[in-house]
Amino acid sequence: MKCIRCGKESSDDALVCDECGFNFKDHEMYLKYIKVKEDDKVGIGKESDLIDNPIMTFVFGLLSIMLPFFLFSFIAFRFFKKPTKAKLIPLKNVGVVLAYLGILASILVVIYAIISFYDIIYMG
Ligand SMILES: [Zn+2]
Repeated sequence: MKCIRCGKESSDDALVCDECGFNFKDHEMYLKYIKVKEDDKVGIGKESDLIDNPIMTFVFGLLSIMLPFFLFSFIAFRFFKKPTKAKLIPLKNVGVVLAYLGILASILVVIYAIISFYDIIYMG
């Protein structure tokens, strides 16, 4: 049995690593715990590329947060063009700036996601 922590070979019936003392039993239980049902239609080694990629997981997580903000900004721009009272104009300006920041951040996230996709497809 090869230790996943230090890489040294131990006898197959060993409970802990001879070299570093790593507990093999804990690791087996961990593997059972994270084991998920595999889809026959997806090739081995292909099924979890996306979810195993921390960058993509982060980008898509961020994207799912940004998208509602983007849509809300768009709807606010498009449908709420009522005359503004003078007192509320500074508030409106802040809203416009926030909306533009939201749109900009969404575009940057999409660009970053596309770049990451190209990295995954063509670099590895
Ligand atoms: Zn070890």
